[in-house]
Amino acid sequence: MRLIAHTQQSASAVLSGQVTVDLSAISDNIRALKKSSRAPFFMAVVKGNAYGHGLVEVARTAVAAGADWLGTAQLAEAVTLRKAGITAPILSWLYLASQTSETIVEALENDVDLSLGSLSQLEVLAGAAQRLGRPGVVHLELDSGLSRGGARMEDWAGLVARARQAELDGTLRVRGIWTHLAWADVPAHPGNASAVAEFEHAVQLAKDAGLQPELRHVSSSANILDRPGFHFDMVRAGLAIYGLAPADYLVPADFGLRPALSVTAPLVMIKKVPAGTGISYEHQAITYEPRHLGLIPLGYADGIPKGISGRPVVSVGGRRVPVIGKVCMDQFMVDLGPDPTGFEVGDTAVLFGDPASGAASADDWGAAIGSHGDEIINRIAPRLPRSYSGMVAAHQCPDYQEPAPAGAGHAG
Ligand SMILES: *Cc1c(COP(=O)(O)O)cnc(C)c1O
Repeated sequence: MRLIAHTQQSASAVLSGQVTVDLSAISDNIRALKKSSRAPFFMAVVKGNAYGHGLVEVARTAVAAGADWLGTAQLAEAVTLRKAGITAPILSWLYLASQTSETIVEALENDVDLSLGSLSQLEVLAGAAQRLGRPGVVHLELDSGLSRGGARMEDWAGLVARARQAELDGTLRVRGIWTHLAWADVPAHPGNASAVAEFEHAVQLAKDAGLQPELRHVSSSANILDRPGFHFDMVRAGLAIYGLAPADYLVPADFGLRPALSVTAPLVMIKKVPAGTGISYEHQAITYEPRHLGLIPLGYADGIPKGISGRPVVSVGGRRVPVIGKVCMDQFMVDLGPDPTGFEVGDTAVLFGDPASGAASADDWGAAIGSHGDEIINRIAPRLPRSYSGMVAAHQCPDYQEPAPAGAGHAG
């Protein structure tokens, strides 16, 4: 079954590019990754609006394809998933722990597991859980060197002792222990092996304190593909489920992965210019012979990086052509060469997509600007119309529950 949803109907009248997300690529990628993983549980990471692919659409697809867990950084995204009727377990790891936080209460009410990495967070969660009358379920986070969230090793014993006390008080339940590696995208880095050793020690300390964590999890995409020894009970896959390279040497196609998202735009004008013509602001490119320019209606307001100028990353009719001159806010030009045969106004230009089709990938764009594919994907502006193919209908999703009618609310 194939459903197409246009989430921005009103934008269809606007001349612009188009984002297309093939959800079947995400399903296939998840199935392939689950085969590569030794861990019994698999988390699909859908933070950042599912890496710009669409939070709810991707989450439904992921669960239908066999993801056991969903992961978001922000609590609000976790709650959005619940409101969309998704009942799969969710872990969320970024929130403001304040005594008055309604967001935390709402998350606990909605059965969202929370990461826990400090005593002050613990007191807030325990307080919220007490008000709610049932324990909050948490995954203790070790800061194994990223220096982001989580408790450092020197604070760990204090955290696990207090967490155990909260379990006995009935305010918290520790379901997991986890860490995120500072060299997550460099599997062979020795910093990973020592962080994993520290993690194992932290798990032991937690057990010694009386905790029984069922889920130990450490690995994101690169280590899923290249470090089976780091898989533990669950892996957390982001980039790889979207078909993007988690490290330069890990080529998605080698693992049966393909990008799900592509950006296309019509060629809105073709124009012949003579030799010596300056192109775009400040004439940073000047033709040395008569050339044909193609006009693309996308610019940096849509997330096209200015650094892409000069790179042969746009594909029109199967031919790669370079971006020429400075990228403008809503438009940029491509160099179609001396002979425009085969190019027509209205032709579809593929900016990036599945490299198997001959187009550049988001990873190619990332490499061209000294970054990575995830930056390219994440900067795509929400104003661009989106369409989805390969969508799982809500009722086909194994864990779908009719969402509660708005305003029904929860008692208490
Ligand atoms: C983003 C993130 C992931 C996923 O990382 P990828 O490299 O995209 O697979 C996993 N765990 C945490 C904590 C993250 O923040």
